[in-house]
Amino acid sequence: MNTEHLMGLHTDSDTLHFLEDEAVGGAAKEPVWRLLVVDDEPDVHRATTFALAGVRILGRALHFLHAYSAAEASQILNAERDVAVVLLDVVMEREDAGLALVKTIRQDLRLNELRIILRTGQPGYAPEIETIHDFDINDYKTKSELTRTKLYATVTAALRAYEQIRKLDELAFYDRLSCLPNRNKFIDLSEERLKNQPKADDVIAILDIDDFSEINDALGHQQGDRLLQSVADRLKTELGNEVILARIGSDTFGLMGEQSVVNPLRVLAMFREPFQVQDDSMVVTATMGLTKLLSDGVSGRDALKDANIALKRAKKSRRGSFVMFSSEMGSDIRERVRLLQSLRSAVESERLFIVYQPQINLSSGKVVGMEALIRWRNEDGTFVPPDRFIPLAEASGMIVAIGDWVLRMSCHELVRLQALGLTDLRMSVNVSQIQFRHPEFLEKLNAALLDTGIRPNCLELEITESVAMEDADFMLETLNLVRELGISIAIDDFGTGYSSLSQLRQLPIDRLKIDRAFVSELQKDMCGGHIASMVIELGRNLNLTVIAEGIEEEAQAEALRALGCHEGQGYLYAKPMTPPLLKEWLVARGSIS
Ligand code: C2E
Ligand code: MG
Ligand code: MG
Repeated sequence: MNTEHLMGLHTDSDTLHFLEDEAVGGAAKEPVWRLLVVDDEPDVHRATTFALAGVRILGRALHFLHAYSAAEASQILNAERDVAVVLLDVVMEREDAGLALVKTIRQDLRLNELRIILRTGQPGYAPEIETIHDFDINDYKTKSELTRTKLYATVTAALRAYEQIRKLDELAFYDRLSCLPNRNKFIDLSEERLKNQPKADDVIAILDIDDFSEINDALGHQQGDRLLQSVADRLKTELGNEVILARIGSDTFGLMGEQSVVNPLRVLAMFREPFQVQDDSMVVTATMGLTKLLSDGVSGRDALKDANIALKRAKKSRRGSFVMFSSEMGSDIRERVRLLQSLRSAVESERLFIVYQPQINLSSGKVVGMEALIRWRNEDGTFVPPDRFIPLAEASGMIVAIGDWVLRMSCHELVRLQALGLTDLRMSVNVSQIQFRHPEFLEKLNAALLDTGIRPNCLELEITESVAMEDADFMLETLNLVRELGISIAIDDFGTGYSSLSQLRQLPIDRLKIDRAFVSELQKDMCGGHIASMVIELGRNLNLTVIAEGIEEEAQAEALRALGCHEGQGYLYAKPMTPPLLKEWLVARGSIS
């Protein structure tokens, strides 16, 4: 294309028109390329706009902004975010003013898409090669080289590069389906807003569409995509430009804006009207987690984590609701993280140990078994109760290794106890459901049997009632395999879950363990006693042994015996003990000599 010819076509009135455009801040309707000329010589500005007047490059007209010093330029760039190219004079107020501005552009303003063309009057001021590379400078020209043609070619190349970088960034930072920013971009944008308006009355929120995966499964992905699009569109229109809106997950949106606008009641009300998805009108609800705590150097990423914690709480309580993050939720989490770290080091420095609590035959008074219970003593000598750290160990997956260790240790202990004369003694080990579902569970169980040489029928696994009743097919299969090894199974905390008789009848189990709560209520009111007697009755019907845990008083033992309960365990007989204390107890009781 002959640019000289093109430019020749332009009259003064065209140039004037462009100048007017600039005067009103370039509010042109049609997209334009915005170029910033930075030079302390007004002549260079005039020559540049004149040379490129009326030119269209890659389908767009050019729009010029002008700065006469590096300081002015950085002000303009700070305010005008979509400048594509800067034509920058190297030497201005100072010899290195231009290069300093380049540094500001890349490092402080983080305008990485912007293309930079350096210009200098004197060839002696060329920047170092490294500078050109490090600061991503597109071109370096002496001003004498910038004839119309050369200027056109240089600017075109820079704009083409700018467009490509923009497209790549768009792929990396925008969601194709909703055309909204993605998670990474949301974090960038929120961080930018936090930096620029630190005192603003802002909230960051995550909005999650309820049961979206079910909708997807039921209606197909295409319909799911359309629904997402129409949710995104509605949020975009209703929230307006002052809110940062992004699609940060498959069915989650990130929102950041003033509290009055990103108000959960207002946002959730946007879901009252059904969404039009092709011919269907679909009703969906959403749940939100929000955080207002955006001061004190909280990063966008941290704020998003906080909002996510709040979202999880909201989902737990009720779909279609919202929860505002509070610092207590954060300290809750931090406390858990701290506890998890010290659990890890407790495992490493062997500060976990096992205590054993005897199980008694209620009619003969004989010791028939032991339950292995884990203990964690802190460095300062205090104990962390298993009810607190087991759930953490489960959530982190550490329970698999810990549980395996408990299993082996207690099998070894059983060998020692049996050698003392308690030849038929049974060892009960608690197994968490995470452990139970681990693919190597059966293998490890078998290995523990082989390595310690215990008789499998002396080992019992305790699983809680709620676990036993979950996913019936899987449980049935696994429990049968455990049973095939010769190991027996007890249902722990029985009475607290909701097992149906028909489910219970199917499971290959040996023992029901009445939960402590029903034992302690034995005499207090009829209701508790009622449940204990029902469990015992159930055991009789299903031909299962029944053991009561948490027996603290002789009267309870008496009542249980009268009801036909076979075995018992509790402080009345003994607290859980370390092996040396256990031996003393057994000797004192006359069970061993
Ligand atoms: P659980 O299996 O139901 O264990 C019985 C709990 O009752 C034990 O609490 C025991 O110390 C306590 N207890 C026993 N007799 C009495 C009594 O007469 N009165 C009262 N008030 N309490 C009594 P502990 O040791 O704190 O264990 C709590 C829970 O932690 C256990 O409940 C079990 O679910 C879990 N747990 C303990 N060790 C392990 C383990 O090695 N692996 C797994 N997965 N869970 C374990
Ligand atoms: Mg137990
Ligand atoms: Mg229990």
